Amino acid sequence: MTRRSWAEPYKIKMVEHLRMTTREQREAAIAEAGYNTFLLRSEDVYIDLLTDSGTSAMSDRQWAGMMLGDEAYAGSRNYYNLEAAVHEHYGYKHLIPTHQGRGAEHLLSQLCIKPGDSVPGNMYFTTTRHHQEAAGGTFVDVIIDEAHDPACEHPFKGNVDLTKLTALIDRVGAERIPYLSLETNVNMAGGQPCSMENICATCALCHEHGIPVFLDATRAVENAYFIKHREVGFADRSIASILLEICSHTDGCTMSAKKDSLVNIGGFLAVNHDELAERARNLVVVYEGLHTYGGLAGRDMEAMAIGIAESVEEDHIRARVGQVHYLGQRLIDAGVPVVRPIGGHGVFIDAAAFLPHIPREQFPAQSLTAALYVDSGVRSMERGAVSVGRDAVTGQNAYPELELVRLTIPRRVYTQAHMDVVAESVIDLHEHPERVDGLEMVYEPQHLRFFQARFAVATGGRLEHQLPKSERVSTN
Ligand SMILES: *Cc1c(COP(=O)(O)O)cnc(C)c1O
Repeated sequence: MTRRSWAEPYKIKMVEHLRMTTREQREAAIAEAGYNTFLLRSEDVYIDLLTDSGTSAMSDRQWAGMMLGDEAYAGSRNYYNLEAAVHEHYGYKHLIPTHQGRGAEHLLSQLCIKPGDSVPGNMYFTTTRHHQEAAGGTFVDVIIDEAHDPACEHPFKGNVDLTKLTALIDRVGAERIPYLSLETNVNMAGGQPCSMENICATCALCHEHGIPVFLDATRAVENAYFIKHREVGFADRSIASILLEICSHTDGCTMSAKKDSLVNIGGFLAVNHDELAERARNLVVVYEGLHTYGGLAGRDMEAMAIGIAESVEEDHIRARVGQVHYLGQRLIDAGVPVVRPIGGHGVFIDAAAFLPHIPREQFPAQSLTAALYVDSGVRSMERGAVSVGRDAVTGQNAYPELELVRLTIPRRVYTQAHMDVVAESVIDLHEHPERVDGLEMVYEPQHLRFFQARFAVATGGRLEHQLPKSERVSTN
């Protein structure tokens, strides 16, 4: 059969120059940054795969929309355009814009969680869990066990384990569960989707007990793509109709529009319940801004409204996921241990398997991000022990099952040749793992430490034995 490629459904109209650096310059830059890729200057980075958040290239239509910003303090025309786009594609009744996803998470957590409550979710996300805990709640992981196994090829590793969820309801009582947070295309699991069947069943179980379900809809469009291609009965359905159906089972969502919606800033809270919406409109003025702008400029809301419509176009999402899979497949073909199946927004390298000589206390994933940057100027992100942080009860470092490096692909930004450069650098390091040094943490911030922690090259101990599996704690 002849090959039919996923090639981009757009052409390039403007270019942004990148600065090329030498290895010596990169060695100096990463040392200066405390071996934390978050602390590098972006001008020292060649290919930036730190995150797909807010890094998308906007279309000419979106840029044209920026010129139509109605910067009135109240009742901006762009707010109504955004409201119409959210209603059309996500289906929820009320829209409260926020500056980004965590703004919506903050509002929802403050509005719904009482101290001592339990908040189940299919794997934690850093900011989501933080806001739940700041409101006095305890996050409880109810994702299926397969999600913690990087090699398992389960097609829907984002699914909720209904047995775990039932056990939680039995243990704490439905009245101590303010809502379930259901993440689509679970980020921390490697961009792994939920099936429509599981979404239906999870929502039905929750609703039976009077527990609302709020979607973390950040990557719901990418999830819809996987449902279309992996779940029986969806092959002929449009992405837009699958997205609407996902949302229709739930009571509302928090959204980081910096991902699926193709904008550089923005987010929203959307809910169906009238009274909750009223309370959210009261609270948003305290933290974000009036309920018709929520911390955004009118032009940002216009770009978001257009971006939402573009995000559900079939050719767009096919090329988006296709590019991620192109990189993933190159690494798989070369024997690099990556999370399987390849997810929707990035390729996740199993750093513990990649660097067996670096003990978990020396943060193999963090170490690999630093080495990859020095090798090729590619910036990636740690998603392992540094991101998980300390155990809330014991205060000890928690060592999650997944010790990953995330190569996150911005939408519509890089070419296939860039993906080849990334693959060649990763494959080279995989063939020479001894070039990667372990790290020790020398500065640890109090909140979300991965953003600002600083490290130094670990002295000695490079060949110490790995922490035995039995001593690792899982993320829940
Ligand atoms: C990025 C992200 C958030 C937080 O959104 P921000 O816009 O970064 O505040 C929440 N949930 C998931 C799954 C995310 O990926």
